[in-house]
Amino acid sequence: MLVRPTTRPLLLARPSATLLFTYYVPRRRFTTNNAQPRETPKFRSAYSLLVASLASGALGYFVSSWNNAEAIPTTPKYGSPKDYEQAILELQLTFAGRDDVVSTDPEDLRIHGRSEYDYLPDCLHSVVVYPDSTEDVVKIVKIATKYRMPITPYSGATNLEGHTRGHSSGGICIDLSGMKRIIEIHEADSDIVCQPGIGWVEINDDLARKGIPLFFPIDPAPGATIGGMLSTGCSGTNAVRYGTSKGEWFLNATVVLPSGEVIKTRRRSRKSSAGFDTTKLFIGAEGTLGIVTEVTIRLAPVLPTSVAVVQFPDVRKATEAVREIINQGVGIQCIELVDAEFMRATNIYGQSRRKWPEKDGLFIKLQGHTQQSIMDSAKVVKKLAEKHGGTGFEFAKNGKEAADLWDDRKNAHFAGLSLVPGAKGWATDVCVPVSKLPDLVYQTKEDLKNLGLVTTIVGHVGDGNFHALILFNNEEEQAKTKQAVSRMVKRAIALDGTCTGEHGVGIGKKDYLIEELGEGTVELMKTIKRAIDPLGLFNPGKLYPDTPTKDKGNNN
Ligand SMILES: Cc1cc2nc3c(=O)[nH]c(=O)nc-3n(C[C@H](O)[C@H](O)[C@H](O)COP(=O)(O)OP(=O)(O)OC[C@H]3O[C@@H](n4cnc5c(N)ncnc54)[C@H](O)[C@@H]3O)c2cc1C
Repeated sequence: MLVRPTTRPLLLARPSATLLFTYYVPRRRFTTNNAQPRETPKFRSAYSLLVASLASGALGYFVSSWNNAEAIPTTPKYGSPKDYEQAILELQLTFAGRDDVVSTDPEDLRIHGRSEYDYLPDCLHSVVVYPDSTEDVVKIVKIATKYRMPITPYSGATNLEGHTRGHSSGGICIDLSGMKRIIEIHEADSDIVCQPGIGWVEINDDLARKGIPLFFPIDPAPGATIGGMLSTGCSGTNAVRYGTSKGEWFLNATVVLPSGEVIKTRRRSRKSSAGFDTTKLFIGAEGTLGIVTEVTIRLAPVLPTSVAVVQFPDVRKATEAVREIINQGVGIQCIELVDAEFMRATNIYGQSRRKWPEKDGLFIKLQGHTQQSIMDSAKVVKKLAEKHGGTGFEFAKNGKEAADLWDDRKNAHFAGLSLVPGAKGWATDVCVPVSKLPDLVYQTKEDLKNLGLVTTIVGHVGDGNFHALILFNNEEEQAKTKQAVSRMVKRAIALDGTCTGEHGVGIGKKDYLIEELGEGTVELMKTIKRAIDPLGLFNPGKLYPDTPTKDKGNNN
């Protein structure tokens, strides 16, 4: 595969400090270099000429950059329906001879333009394309650009905020789920190179089958894939031990930019201080800056684990116990808060092997180098839980029981939905400093109770992140849910938290970004977007708030 570094400078929307820096640095070097000949009149005039020409070049570039920046549309202009027809024809011609790469099958379009998992209306793409390689992706991007057609990456499709919906004018859905090869396994380096469509579960199963005692510890929905995980900046139950996608788990990414250029963000070494972290630019970018076609991920050693459960009088007591347990530094891999309503849902869902007490509680995955060290940790956890009012502490007797217990926690989404048959679920994702979590949970529960909405709560309590799954059955309940979610987010932000701890922004959260991050930060994000994707074709309508920041308009 051809991968070359970016040489073309990125065009900033306005002349910026970066441009000024570029032009002044050589001059400063020239004047301070002791090895330069002493200034003679002749040299001085040559020098003046050089400075003048540099200055005028800089000015010319500066002005032309300014003009070009002005030429970048603040509101993207997409192709006409006729252009889109032409683009689809060209896609079909490009991939002629290969089966099932380009699809306009209505069922395919329907599947890709909706989601089982969220509350947002369907919005269909015009065509779905299934690439096999980076080269395929480049071809598709070039056609999208030629016909100014929006292009939305799609992979595991487990996003929860409408991330992969089509654009209202139509567009190309690029489904990368077929690009799922593990390209290289470097056991000695604890990393693998893979395509973006492979799931974290598939990777871990494959490593286990091969007898390699390593795993990828970021664990969102079981169907999530590496490309989608990188692009949402996700995490999961393991985050309290291993951190999130925004940590150092993605060592590098190969990315097709909107220009069609292929870049690799860095090499495979564990560390690099070579400039700023361009891999991170794409983590959480939700497919708006580039399409990831290859990734190197870091792996962790598989350690023995077991599971414990314990009930508490209330959420506050459970959270206080968690704080103390974590501060002991015992081997905790996951520590999950569940509320009484969730335990009731688990009983109704009927997949569990046991009947649960319907009380607030914790599911805890303990980790250690040996069974003995896990047992030692369990003793500390039990003692601290009981100190905070914990009862019914239970420690799995064997691996099978541990897996069964953990499945009950992992089935949260579907168990929650079973409380109101036929209902849709609105999954929220606020995150606050851990000590603030009980306040937020109580205020949220009170609010939802007053509205008469059925809700379950599970939380990555060690990270201050919790999910309320709010159920609604009709438009009136959906409207109430929307208002309640908005209040919940505002409360979280007021507590120095975030509207999304791990699910990402998509369509559903973009209106909260300015309040959370401030205008300047959002404008910086938009400036980067405009620089990399001046035509605004990559996953438009997601991530960036519709509200104009300063005077720059939108470039969604
Ligand atoms: C039951 C359930 C449980 C969940 N639990 C968690 C959890 O615990 N923690 C958590 O963080 N999330 C969770 N999620 C949300 C979801 O699993 C994550 O957001 C996940 O990272 C999405 O990955 P995906 O492969 O499904 O991506 P998709 O849904 O296909 O796409 C997500 C985003 O990434 C972009 N994208 C996809 N592939 C690429 C690519 N190759 N290049 C560029 N952009 C790309 C898409 O355009 C989109 O914007 C859960 C979801 C469900 C349904």
